[in-house]
Amino acid sequence: MYPDTELFIAGEWTNGTSGVTLPILNPATGGEIGRVAKAGKAEMDRALVAAERAFRQWRKTTARERAKLLHAAADNLKARLEDIAPILTMEQGKPLAEARSELRNADDVIRWFAEEGIRSYGRLIPARRGGVQQMVMKEPIGVVAAFTPWNYPVAQAIRKISAALASGCTVILKAAEEAPASCAAMVRAFADAGFPDGAINLLYGIPAEISEYLIPHPAIRKVSFTGSTSVGKRLASLAGAHMKRVTMELGGHAPYIVCADADLPKAVSMLAEHKFHNAGQVCIAPTRVLVEEPVYDRVLEDFVTAVKAIRIGDGFTGGVDMGPMANARRLDAMDRLIGDAVARGGRLLTGGNRIGNAGFFFEPTVLAEVPKEAAIMNEEPFGPVAVVNRFSSIDEAIDEANRLPVGLAAYAFTRTQRNAQRFADDIEAGMLSINDYGLAYAEVPFNGIKDSGYGSEGGAEALETFQTIKFVSQTNF
Ligand code: NAD
Repeated sequence: MYPDTELFIAGEWTNGTSGVTLPILNPATGGEIGRVAKAGKAEMDRALVAAERAFRQWRKTTARERAKLLHAAADNLKARLEDIAPILTMEQGKPLAEARSELRNADDVIRWFAEEGIRSYGRLIPARRGGVQQMVMKEPIGVVAAFTPWNYPVAQAIRKISAALASGCTVILKAAEEAPASCAAMVRAFADAGFPDGAINLLYGIPAEISEYLIPHPAIRKVSFTGSTSVGKRLASLAGAHMKRVTMELGGHAPYIVCADADLPKAVSMLAEHKFHNAGQVCIAPTRVLVEEPVYDRVLEDFVTAVKAIRIGDGFTGGVDMGPMANARRLDAMDRLIGDAVARGGRLLTGGNRIGNAGFFFEPTVLAEVPKEAAIMNEEPFGPVAVVNRFSSIDEAIDEANRLPVGLAAYAFTRTQRNAQRFADDIEAGMLSINDYGLAYAEVPFNGIKDSGYGSEGGAEALETFQTIKFVSQTNF
C-alpha cells in the first residue's frame, strides 16, 4: 500500500491548515497512487519558528550526542528498509534493487557524517605575544532551507540533512512533490530517533512559493538546492540578494572519454551499467561518450550490444535493469532531443521510442556521430540516451569535454599515465574518475564547477558548507 504524505513541522505530522493535497502518480502506470499535503504560509511560518527555536538547543548539543542521534536515525532507516524501498519504487519508478541500494547508501551517508561531525576541529594560531590565545572556531551556520529533487528522493535529501544536523544546524526540507513518501519515511526515521522538535521539518507544496518565502526570511541562514541550473541560478540570485550562504548542486553533461589504449571491455561495461542507472536521471550520468578514432567502431558496436540486453519493466518485476522515467516531462524531453539529433544527421543505433502507452517507459537509446549543434550535445538529457562521438587527439577530447558551460562529473579511460595526468590537469569538472566509476561516496567531495554550481555535498568539505568561522583572540588576565 502506498501511504499519503503529510508535512512534518515542529515534531508533528500534519496535513496543514488548507487541507489541500497534490496527486502522486506511479510512473509505471501513469495512474494516481496517493496524495501529498500542500504547505501554505501558515505551515512555513510554523516551520521557521520551530527550526529557529530548535537551533538554539541543537547548536549547544555536543557533537557526540548529535552523532548518537544520527546513528539512531540510521538504525531506524535500516530496520525499515524493506518497507520503504517498495514505496520508493512505486512513486519514482526505479527497480526495487536500486531503491534498496539508495536506502543502503543513505544509511552510509548518515553514519559517515555522524562520525565526521565529531572530528570537526578548530585551530589554534600561534600568537605574536605571550599570554595570548588565538582560536579559530567552527560554528553551525543556523537554520538551513534545503530543496531536493525527485530522481533520488531519499539520497539527495540525506546528504543535506545529515551534514546539516551533524554540524549543529536545523533544517527545513522542501523535498520533491513527485516522490514524497519515501523521503517522508526517511524523515520519520529521524523523528523517531529523538531529535528535538523542529530540528528537522518537512514541507511540500508549490516549489517557487516555498523557496521565495523561505530564502529571504531572516531565520534562514543557508540555502542548499539540487536541481536544474536554471532554477539554481534563480534561487542563488535570491539568496545573494539576502546574503545567504548557498550550496548549488545543478545539472551536468558528463563526458566519458575512451582512449584507444584503454581497457575497452571495462570502459564499455561500466558505461552500459551506469548510463542507464535510474533510467539515466542522474546528474553525474555519462552523456557525451568520446571514443578515440582507432577503436571507435568496436566500442560503439560492443556498447550497442550491451544496451540491447538491458531489460526494461515495472520496477517490481524480477530481473528488470531499468524502470520507467520518473515523469512525463522527461518523455517529452527524450522525444525532442532524439528527434533533433537525428534531424541534424546523428545516427540512431538503438532505442529512440517510448514503450507502450501506459506509464513513462522509454527505450535505452544510443546515438552516434551527432553534430555539436544538436540540442542533446548542449542540454543535459537526464534520461536513458547516450551519444557516442569520435576524437582523434587528446587535445580534441579535452576541448570537447570542456566545451559546455557546465562542469560536474567527467570520466576517462586510458592506460597511459601521461594521458591520465592531462585529464586530471585540464578537464574542467568538479569530479573526475579515471579508469573507474568512483564518485559520490559519502567521504569524497561531491561538487560541480561553472554552471554546475558550487559547494560540496560530500566529504569533510560538505560539513564546512554548514559552518561559519569565528576567530577569538583572548589575552590572559
Ligand atoms: P526543475 O529544476 O524544475 O526541478 C528540480 C527540482 O527542483 C524539483 O524537485 C522541483 O520541485 C524543484 N524546484 C523547481 N523549481 C523550484 C523553485 N522555484 N524553488 C524550489 N525548488 C524548485 O527540474 P525538472 O523539470 O524536475 O527536471 C528538469 C531538469 O532538472 C533535468 O533535466 C535535470 O537537468 C535537472 N535535474 C537535476 C537533478 C540533479 O540531481 N542535479 C535532479 C532533478 C532534475
